[in-house]
Amino acid sequence: MPRSDEQSPFARDGPALEPVPISALAQYSYCPRRCALIHVEQTFDENLYTLRGRLFHERVHEIGEEVHEKLRIERGVSLWSERLGLIGKADVVEYHYGPSGDEIPYPVEYKVGPRKDEPHAPVQLCAQAMCLEEMTGKRVPRGAVYYHRSRRRREVVFDKALRARVRAATEAVRDLLVRRLVPPPPNDDRCRHCSLRESCLPRAAGEPERLAALRAAVYEAEEAEEEP
Ligand code: SF4
Repeated sequence: MPRSDEQSPFARDGPALEPVPISALAQYSYCPRRCALIHVEQTFDENLYTLRGRLFHERVHEIGEEVHEKLRIERGVSLWSERLGLIGKADVVEYHYGPSGDEIPYPVEYKVGPRKDEPHAPVQLCAQAMCLEEMTGKRVPRGAVYYHRSRRRREVVFDKALRARVRAATEAVRDLLVRRLVPPPPNDDRCRHCSLRESCLPRAAGEPERLAALRAAVYEAEEAEEEP
């Protein structure tokens, strides 16, 4: 099977659809506002955890190809779907050898932290599988999320419900990108664990009166500074 990054995404006639980054689907699943802050407003607050994640993924993508008795492994694999308008990269794609020697793609998404049964990484992983299906013409029935800290895999089955979530999230993210929308903050428990909370200001932005008071205070401060 040729390496999947040998061709450019949407190369022939240009993209018919606004391309949606696959990683944005997991962000959207976690919090639509977080997705928009990153992909519409290009907000990115680096901290120890995001830095660790970025360096970890760079390392995973560096290693190249390995061939084993029962499978072949590719790392940092470029992916796309013209049908869905998706582009991105898989951390790892394993090609498991079937009974007749054919290769069945099996995407693996790496996460830095301990194993969590959260619903967001499976959306990203299933989107990778749907891209692989379009690129290789093969059915991709399952894949795995690998949690580095606990060294454990969680297998994910790409059933109809998960595929429907991928399609719905793709459309929703495309709508944010095209209309340049930033949804209001949910301001709930998710914000406690979110690296963007200092840029997002979920409490203030979720309370229009509080936001107006903050804005007024900023303008008052600017005017005071301008006085001779
Ligand atoms: S701080 Fe809360 S509302 Fe803001 S992006 Fe993060 S999770 Fe979403």
